[in-house]
Amino acid sequence: MKMKISTLLLALSWTISAAAQTSHFDGQTWWNHVKFLADDKLEGRDTGSRGEREAQSYAVKQFKNAGAEPTGVHGFYQPVKFVSRQIVEKDCSLAIIRDGKREALTLGEDAIISTRVMPAPEVEAPLVFVGYGLKVPEKNYDDFAGVDVRGKIIVIFAGSPSEIPGALASHYQTAAERWKVLRSAGAIGMVSLINPASMDIPWSRMALNRAHPSMDLDYPEFNETEGAKIAITVNPMSAEKLFAGSGHTFEEIVALGKDRKPLPHFPLAVSLAAKTRVDVTKIESANLVAKLPGSDPTLKDEYVVLSAHLDHVGIGEPINGDRIYNGAMDNGSGSALVLDMAASFKKNPEMLRRSILLILVTGEEKGLLGSKYFAAHPTVPPKSIVADVNVDMFLPIVPLKVLTVMGLDESDLGDRVREIAQSLGVRVQPDPEPLRNLFVRSDQYNFIRHGVPSLAMGVAPSSPEEAKIFKDWLTQRYHAPSDDVNQPVDLAAAAKYEEIVRALLINVANGDHRPEWKPDSFFRRYAEPVKMGQ
Ligand SMILES: [Zn+2]
Repeated sequence: MKMKISTLLLALSWTISAAAQTSHFDGQTWWNHVKFLADDKLEGRDTGSRGEREAQSYAVKQFKNAGAEPTGVHGFYQPVKFVSRQIVEKDCSLAIIRDGKREALTLGEDAIISTRVMPAPEVEAPLVFVGYGLKVPEKNYDDFAGVDVRGKIIVIFAGSPSEIPGALASHYQTAAERWKVLRSAGAIGMVSLINPASMDIPWSRMALNRAHPSMDLDYPEFNETEGAKIAITVNPMSAEKLFAGSGHTFEEIVALGKDRKPLPHFPLAVSLAAKTRVDVTKIESANLVAKLPGSDPTLKDEYVVLSAHLDHVGIGEPINGDRIYNGAMDNGSGSALVLDMAASFKKNPEMLRRSILLILVTGEEKGLLGSKYFAAHPTVPPKSIVADVNVDMFLPIVPLKVLTVMGLDESDLGDRVREIAQSLGVRVQPDPEPLRNLFVRSDQYNFIRHGVPSLAMGVAPSSPEEAKIFKDWLTQRYHAPSDDVNQPVDLAAAAKYEEIVRALLINVANGDHRPEWKPDSFFRRYAEPVKMGQ
């Protein structure tokens, strides 16, 4: 077939510009940072640990080498205080009470006591099943309507019905939103039943590290679970025990829930009794903040944020004899990208109108805590932050042909990244698995809550074979010691991903307009008060 000359020229010029655009990264300098951050010496970079501090010193050195300016509170550092809670399991017990008879639940095997909520020393209350346990006013959806949960512990099936769009469902499943609803309904605790269809890691691995401390920000303004007395998660294999005598089965709930169908609401025939003891200690860590200054006299006081979490989960129970949870992909990969990006702007300077703010947050694995603190107490004026591009575990484990963009349809950042990716031959798609709640499961969510248009992106599979590689990665390596530097990684995919991020940062830094939420985006509501104040 004959090709028209004009088409040929167009194709040629496209190839040239694409080639020029992909020249900033080789994958290797990025990987070298990952190798440092995920080395056994850094002991998994747990929040507030020696290993995390070493990772922070390394990052500060890289920022200085790249000529980035300190924009924290003390130099590059913004201190953050935490309270750490560790369950003392030998002094804890859980039981269900049926017709006055106690039936013990085995900790670890049947259930896990969450310390994200500070448990009361002793609780006993009836259980009531409230489906997904959601209240979504925008959709006139209310799992609590007509159900009396006052003084009771609610039992929920994790997930959401299909009538609730993904972003909305994710939003209302966050701890803050959930406990608001529970408090106003008068419930005192929550039992979560895992949806086997959206389980990221097997129960055995969840249970393995149940004694690992949880953390919360040590400032009264962030107490989201006030009034909550107990939160537990039950093994799907043991969940049937709760349903016996209720006229319903867990099996029936799972069958409905896997297709996101409506769920029934009903009292269970049992009460839950819990005794708990928790050791509480104080921990300090920090976010790191660095600036690549813009040059426009006015716009340089506006900031495009590139964020990633530097912390991981530290040292835990051994798996195959390995106790160090290195977090190479989660999130050595994103942190390394931030450092590599800083270096790339030094090596290949670009005229930037707005400034770029590089943030390496702490406490992500503890519940997005470092970013929550930063978004509430930014080290630059709050209204000057125009966008957040967050990088968390972007998984360059297959060639980059398809890019999943969380928040693709929420703001015009999505349109910008679509165009950039397409020019590099990469197709973009919205989150294909809304059930996993990824849009609210990393640090971009705290920027969103403060009105800032945000995105997070990940390499996606482009064939069933590649889909299996991702599935296996989650099952075997996600939050396991084998997420280390001895795993296959595609350096070309990483380089191409970095190229897309760089082009997006430049686009936002130099665009005439700040990014905006789409008129129909649910998340636009958080931006409204800011707009009114302008
Ligand atoms: Zn993680």
